[in-house]
Amino acid sequence: MSAAALAADPVVPAIDRTIDSYAVVTLGLSKRFGRRLAVDGLDLRIPVGSITGFVGPNGAGKTTTIRMLLGLIRPTSGRGTVLGHPLGHSRAYLPRVGALIEGPTFYPALSGRENLMVLARLGGIQTKRVDAVLRRVGLGPRALDPFRTYSLGMRQRLGIGAALLPSPQLLVLDEPTNGLDPHGIAEIRAMLRSFADDGMTVFVSSHLLAEIQQICEHLVVIEAGRLIFQGGVEELLAARAPELIVRTETVQDAVQLLRLVRSVGRSARMVGEGESTTLEIAADCHWAGELNRLAMADGITLVHLAERRSTLEEAFFEITRSSYGQMRRASDFPRGDQGARGAWTPEAGRR
Ligand code: ATP
Repeated sequence: MSAAALAADPVVPAIDRTIDSYAVVTLGLSKRFGRRLAVDGLDLRIPVGSITGFVGPNGAGKTTTIRMLLGLIRPTSGRGTVLGHPLGHSRAYLPRVGALIEGPTFYPALSGRENLMVLARLGGIQTKRVDAVLRRVGLGPRALDPFRTYSLGMRQRLGIGAALLPSPQLLVLDEPTNGLDPHGIAEIRAMLRSFADDGMTVFVSSHLLAEIQQICEHLVVIEAGRLIFQGGVEELLAARAPELIVRTETVQDAVQLLRLVRSVGRSARMVGEGESTTLEIAADCHWAGELNRLAMADGITLVHLAERRSTLEEAFFEITRSSYGQMRRASDFPRGDQGARGAWTPEAGRR
């Protein structure tokens, strides 16, 4: 079925006429291994030309999803398109997809250039492309050195080079930053940015949000096989409920203010001790004036008042906290005006 036919297909309502805007669209994509549902009804949308991060804790189902997208394993149910072609017809789109999954295997004694030459010949790709690719991934000066002498970062770059050989429109990288130092991550980031600037769509998985945050502008977060967020990094941050961080002159004042804040229906808690005793109140800066008046009416002086929004890492831990345990501050708030998990995500998965 062509992309146009698929888009017009009345039984695929969610794979709609915006199909050309997405390099990957899935609807209810699922994979079961025996009793284990590794991927559970994923509705993915990966915008064309984006660097999209695919994040989730170990075992969340990232590799399984990627393997389905690459036609390496068959979905148990669901459907989707990659570069406009249905998942079942991977031969139609795989020539335009470059992939690096689960670490590339290269011959240690052969140079980077020789390794890519072997891969190009095997893949029916013109070998003259090899030198251009080596330059693109910054390995030009070391191209003739044996692979075994390469650093981890160079090995990853050669792996990305291998994925670039077919001049892909979609580049799928499974954990490309695994084990790299900040310098290596910065190099990968700059490289992926340049690919996206050329119109390539980059889909990059990681279980480390801190790395993905540096590289991607768009995020797909999964946990236990389910979609829990997809959208812009900024969107994820903006959607997080803010807090007011407040300090008073004395601990007694903090205790009294906590009581007052709760008495007007706000969720709040006290952290720290002694001079660093702080109140964290579930409210944004618009409530700061009212808080001030409340404190003043009771003779309490605020010595610090600021709004804080969660970092991306905090937001991530919070939305995936069932995997990570009770690690986050916001989860300590009694349910007040903090949004329920899933309620704030633009495209929250089914919960
Ligand atoms: P990681 O970050 O650790 O690589 P992941 O998000 O890529 O994790 P997957 O490798 O997709 O997760 O695994 C998802 C779940 O499916 C896990 O519980 C895993 O044990 C299971 N699984 C994956 N492949 C198979 C298989 N071939 N047979 C049985 N179970 C599998």
